[in-house]
Amino acid sequence: MQTQPKASHFIDGAYVEDDSGTPIDVIYPATGEKIATVYAATPAIVDRALDAARRAQGAWAAMSGTERGRILRRAADIMRDRNHDLSVLETYDTGKPYQETSVADATSGADALEYFGGMAATLTGEHIQLGEDWVYTRREPLGVCVGIGAWNYPTQIACWKGAPALACGNAVVFKPSETTPLSALKVAEILHEAGLPAGLYNVVQGMGEVGAALVTDARVDKVSLTGSVPTGRKVYAAAAEGMKHVTMELGGKSPMIVFEDANIENAVSGAILGNFYSSGQVCSNGTRVFVHKDIKEQFLNRLAARLDAAVIGDPMDPTTNFGPMVSEHQMKIALDYIAKGEAEGARLAYGGKAIDRPGFYMQPCVFADVTDDMVIAREEIFGPVMAVLDFEDETEVLARANATEFGLAAGVFTNNLTRAHRIAAGFEAGTCYINTYNDAPVEAPFGGVKASGVGRENSKAAIEHYSQLKSVYVRMGDLEAPF
Ligand code: NDP
Repeated sequence: MQTQPKASHFIDGAYVEDDSGTPIDVIYPATGEKIATVYAATPAIVDRALDAARRAQGAWAAMSGTERGRILRRAADIMRDRNHDLSVLETYDTGKPYQETSVADATSGADALEYFGGMAATLTGEHIQLGEDWVYTRREPLGVCVGIGAWNYPTQIACWKGAPALACGNAVVFKPSETTPLSALKVAEILHEAGLPAGLYNVVQGMGEVGAALVTDARVDKVSLTGSVPTGRKVYAAAAEGMKHVTMELGGKSPMIVFEDANIENAVSGAILGNFYSSGQVCSNGTRVFVHKDIKEQFLNRLAARLDAAVIGDPMDPTTNFGPMVSEHQMKIALDYIAKGEAEGARLAYGGKAIDRPGFYMQPCVFADVTDDMVIAREEIFGPVMAVLDFEDETEVLARANATEFGLAAGVFTNNLTRAHRIAAGFEAGTCYINTYNDAPVEAPFGGVKASGVGRENSKAAIEHYSQLKSVYVRMGDLEAPF
């Protein structure tokens, strides 16, 4: 497959190259080999993208929602038709196994384009009667929306931000992570092939400073970031300076509680999905697994047996279900945390070693006997490192689950109906699961509370974050004034 893109950037409906920017090598995580080079956007490229977006946005907003939606739905169809090639590219970009990318990346991007495409025609204001006077509201776009992506779900993030923004009549400038710059260009290409007018979805490459230049530009009305909490704090502060709208999808250290009455196989499945899918590089992962002490050994034994069946290897092999880490850097972060966990006295119950082969491979890792104060129970690792903690009492475990600055996701496994809902209500998290983990359908709001973020992606809720209401007061009679 041709992994070198036609050019680094996509601006005003066309690929654009400018090799005076800093070169960014794209590395295939399964081999460590360079598969492409793109160039970071220079100030002139950033300027060109924002100018194109600004120019195109008005006419797009003036189109009917039905017309806008039709283009997004057509783009969804093209993405689905090309799912195989897009999934292979995503695997090259991220190292995630094809077994995953073929069902979770372009497909979920297509879901977002289809969902918001379908919704575009339904976006309306309301009529508010006030005696004989009345107010009507107009749902208007924000203008130019900047999306800044993380590296773990490059296609999905490009679509989760682009689809609702475009449905509402905005223009988009998207900056992918420098680690995974390839897929967003394909999203731009497909949108334009589907009929999106030039200038409405632009992609510029670059590191943090390109993101920062976009966030502080006066032509930008909204910033949506998917990234870590420290970056989120910086971007939120910079956006506040310009009084811009924000969506912040940030990190987490989410809890998963397994009660003694849970179906153990399902709980183990949830723990595997919530810790080892995408080699653990998922923001909403339930990395603090609180297991009731009565079932702890049984849980750990089943977990180890199930992990023994993981197929670790070439991510292009459709039977591989655990691939490399995205980069050597990210693998080192995870291995360093494992060393800290051992030094703090947690019991290494499974794996946790680097694998001696080309690429950035490590074993999935489970720590048992973890306590709340350990670093591996407090900080986001963003790798395949599960911390299992013991508990005995419902009130105590809920308080411990919530005792974190983060609040992205949380899960509970139990067969006690009322307890399940009581715990879900008590979780300080934006996205909760009962007897499952990490499902993220486009129909459901996704996002965090506390330090994990601001705003919601997906669902009808995303519309509130990509549009604003104008209210128009209409007086029917004469107007009196005091003098
Ligand atoms: P980072 O926070 O390092 O980077 C996120 C993006 O922000 C990158 O494109 C980065 O550019 C850019 N950036 C960095 N500094 C600035 C700045 N000052 N101004 C503007 N943009 C900037 O996150 P990672 O890419 O390492 O992704 C991992 C993190 O993302 C984890 O914490 C994870 O939890 C979180 N995440 C959250 C999700 C959610 O939906 N809540 C989903 C997925 C991940 P570059 O890296 O190219 O320099």
